[in-house]
Amino acid sequence: MNVYDSDRMADVLAPIGYAATDVPGDADMVIVNTCHIREQASEKLFSELGRFRNMKNKRAENGDATVIAVAGCVAQAAGAEIIKRAPYVDIVLGPQTYHRLPEMVARATRAQAAGGKNKGILDIEFPEEPKFDHLPQIQAKGSSAFLSVQEGCDKFCTFCVVPYTRGAEYSRPIEDVLGEAKIFAAGGVKEIILLGQNVNAYHGEKTKGEAGSEAGLGYLLHRLAEIDGIERLRYLTSHPIDMDDDLIAAHGEIAELTPFAHLPVQSGSDRILGRMNRHHKIEDYYRIVEKLVAQRAELKLSSDFIVGFPGESDADFEATIKLIKDVKFLQAYSFKYSPRPGTPGALMADQVPEEVKVERLAILQALLVSQQTEFNEASIGKSMPVLFDRRGRMDGQLVGRSPYMQPVHVQASDDFYGEIADVKLLSASANSLGGEIVSDDRLTPSFKTKERASA
Ligand code: SAH
Ligand code: SF4
Repeated sequence: MNVYDSDRMADVLAPIGYAATDVPGDADMVIVNTCHIREQASEKLFSELGRFRNMKNKRAENGDATVIAVAGCVAQAAGAEIIKRAPYVDIVLGPQTYHRLPEMVARATRAQAAGGKNKGILDIEFPEEPKFDHLPQIQAKGSSAFLSVQEGCDKFCTFCVVPYTRGAEYSRPIEDVLGEAKIFAAGGVKEIILLGQNVNAYHGEKTKGEAGSEAGLGYLLHRLAEIDGIERLRYLTSHPIDMDDDLIAAHGEIAELTPFAHLPVQSGSDRILGRMNRHHKIEDYYRIVEKLVAQRAELKLSSDFIVGFPGESDADFEATIKLIKDVKFLQAYSFKYSPRPGTPGALMADQVPEEVKVERLAILQALLVSQQTEFNEASIGKSMPVLFDRRGRMDGQLVGRSPYMQPVHVQASDDFYGEIADVKLLSASANSLGGEIVSDDRLTPSFKTKERASA
């Protein structure tokens, strides 16, 4: 979501003359967009800021002014502290106020030009009106695009800062989402990844402002799949308790929906799920997986895991390992529990020692790598549609992604860049596959692998 937000900040600033640069020293403004989900991510901020202060001083020697802004969830959670600890920061803004950036930049540059002591602008409000209504029209870039449909969260899992930094749960109206998706499709986007901290809690109004017209993510996915040119749909990140029947059915009904679902579970132990305030038991998770696979036999899952949540015993951890083996997750984001200030988990007495967390994470990740390698090896000899969205390191090499997000390398003409083509998979490693294109009538609808999985 921070990638999406950073792009949108660039869009907001374009009309007042800013464009992105790859050379930091050339920048009239630097925005550090931050993540607060784990401690490691937040800590990076102050070391980054030190670098940018030196850059600001150097540019000042040549008479060039620099605006430094800190955005995102660390700004939301620790805005006042940032201004105090780093007085050279001009602007601190939260994830819900970046549509106001032009006004903040104008104030900061005026203050700098007047030569007065910079006080630092702080805007970490949760505005009544969502920022989406104030952002410029989205532009298509590339063949795969993020589309933010939902933000915030009301679930308050005991380890998580999201409800505090992103605010209350909000869903964008369906007509707005479809409008953006059509702009993407017209600009050559083939794959849309719907984003939300709790994306399957989505309940957008069909018609903007018409309370009572809300529909869920299953309905939205159907409408998106109708758009010409959109050939792949994915959604991130979901909570098991919001996997309703419509959404599960969508996996069998919508060919564009990849047969790879990301469904974070965090732990395989009921005791730990309870302490995490996850509101479901592990049996419920198994039932959801069964229902999804009943809809689409080749569906595979990825997940998120936290090891070393307070009170996690060896038996609790073993339950997580059992779950990973049972479900045969292909991939996962896995983390050591990181106590976050202000969350209930941070105050729990029975914190797990760091060395135990390190050991458990290594065991869990090794298992996931072995399952992924096994799946990649079993893919050899199969054909899969691949979306080519990168050029490889070697001459004439393109890199794309299979429906299971496996990176696939081929030697192919650059005409395939940004396209989907069927590839026969010929070799595999833990992290990627190699293959060759089996069809070159790439501009015909045969490129759409439309057949239903159950067929
Ligand atoms: N809404 C999703 C998760 C969004 S947060 C859900 O309900 O599952 C993204 C991921 O960050 C989480 O799935 C979790 O695995 C990880 N995470 C969040 N807080 C964490 C913490 N305090 N320590 C370690 N990992 C954390
Ligand atoms: Fe965080 Fe997800 Fe729990 Fe919300 S549902 S509090 S985003 S982990």
